[in-house]
Amino acid sequence: MSIKDNLDRIMNELPARVKLVAVSKFHPVERLMEAYNAGQRLFGENRPQEFAAKVPLMPADVQWHFIGHLQTNKLKLVLPHASLVESVDSMHLLEAINAWGAANGKVVPILLELHLGAEETKHGFSEKDIFEIFRVRAVPSLKNLEFRGLMGMATNTEDEAVIEADFARIEALFNRIREEFPELRDTFTELSIGMSGDWPLAVKHGATIVRIGTDIFGEREY
Ligand SMILES: *Cc1c(COP(=O)(O)O)cnc(C)c1O
Repeated sequence: MSIKDNLDRIMNELPARVKLVAVSKFHPVERLMEAYNAGQRLFGENRPQEFAAKVPLMPADVQWHFIGHLQTNKLKLVLPHASLVESVDSMHLLEAINAWGAANGKVVPILLELHLGAEETKHGFSEKDIFEIFRVRAVPSLKNLEFRGLMGMATNTEDEAVIEADFARIEALFNRIREEFPELRDTFTELSIGMSGDWPLAVKHGATIVRIGTDIFGEREY
């Protein structure tokens, strides 16, 4: 199957309201261009250096999401080019991105990453952390951030019940925040869940963004 065939198959199954991020990490620019030539315009990368190296090699109408752990000393590699930083996973990072936005006269669109279930990674906020960010009025003081929604990665398992429980948790949090903070409703609209193995389940649980690598580009060579 070619990259174009893979994209066509996914786009056929994906409801129109769901955006597809083609996760191109570890793949060379020639492969990204195959996806671009098949019509894909939204790409995701998870390592700052690789991200910054690829951006100038791709056409200017490509949109980039950053989806990996971001250290505050790498902001300048990522923030000038990312249309959305999906993986904001700590208060420290939140404040650093806000400060970068203030210094550069920009409002940076971000998603808060919820730490889901049994995932090996320790990155991400708890539900309680996320509520606190909104309840203690941190949001109005973080003027150079736009809170666009939530991101999460389900437990890495074949067990669909476990994956669905993870997605149900983040979906419930997303809906609760929108209910409790109506002033956010116009902008807090994105729920980024679902990857190659589990994206149809994510769509069932309200995904507005899915992040798919392997099902488009094949296995990564690390
Ligand atoms: C790599 C990655 C993906 C895509 O994973 P695949 O299983 O290849 O689809 C999605 N989200 C994040 C955060 C990733 O790092």
